[in-house]
Amino acid sequence: MTTPFLWHNGHIKPWTEATVHVSTHALHYGSSVFEGERVYATPQGPAYFRLADHTRRLFESARVYEIEIGYTEDQINAACMEVIRANRMGSAYVRPIVFRGAGGLGVLPKDGAPVDVAIMALEWGAYLGDARENGADVCVSSWQRPAPNTVPSWAKAGGNYLSSQLIGLEARRGGYAEGIALGHNGLLSEGAGENVFVVKNGKLLTPPTSAGILAGITRDTVMTLAEDLGIKVEERDLPREALYTADEVFMTGTAAEITPVRSVDRKPVGTGKPGQVTRALQKAFFGLFDGSTEDRWGWLTPVSDA
Ligand code: PMP
Repeated sequence: MTTPFLWHNGHIKPWTEATVHVSTHALHYGSSVFEGERVYATPQGPAYFRLADHTRRLFESARVYEIEIGYTEDQINAACMEVIRANRMGSAYVRPIVFRGAGGLGVLPKDGAPVDVAIMALEWGAYLGDARENGADVCVSSWQRPAPNTVPSWAKAGGNYLSSQLIGLEARRGGYAEGIALGHNGLLSEGAGENVFVVKNGKLLTPPTSAGILAGITRDTVMTLAEDLGIKVEERDLPREALYTADEVFMTGTAAEITPVRSVDRKPVGTGKPGQVTRALQKAFFGLFDGSTEDRWGWLTPVSDA
């Protein structure tokens, strides 16, 4: 799954040369923040999807944890472009990561302790396999998402993904493609690595960003596209049974894109097949990349030769 080159602390390097020491702070204490972005092959060549928004979120995540990124947002955007060019990729999943490096073993980072930045690009197709077409079988996890006043969900930090691993591992053990978690208040939160949407009576419903979720960029894209298609969108608290009584359910994420859910806890969702609204949103979303949906929002940035 590797590519020949990555970007590490200011330079393009061979993949194998970007190593860290075992005393790296992030390894012990989860002190990394990262992004997951995609480059799509478009008729005009490879293009980043919402790169500036991802980079902005990376900087906001770092700000929450007082991690100083030694580069500007523009420099990170340029570095993301460089990685794609260096590897001559037509499409990719891109993973920028910022982490506290090797600077002593204390929990509290010392003043001036190193912060490393790396950007990897990988070939990565549909995250949940053929579920993007046929729908995923998911479960409601016995694990809840952390409460808002514990580990902040808006920051996309490495440590948050311990919760995602528990949810995902339990789901896999039960034979499910993914797990959806409730929040601290018992209401619907999000999947291990995806936001969740419910379609009921033609309306699109999704938990608010205060529900212990990551404020997903695909979530925002889908809400924008839905409104454009004349579909009403409501961010509101949803109980677990909203999943069982939904006409349609789908999950969104950079990796998962728009993945229909065909069953929850082995109960079929609606007809048990991806529904009309999900299909319409998939069409609008993937249309951005083949040109059949006009990018009126300036979401695509070509990977130029510069
Ligand atoms: N929630 C979690 C926990 C995630 O890891 C992700 C993937 N980054 C998402 C939601 C979806 O976010 P986005 O659409 O920005 O990729």
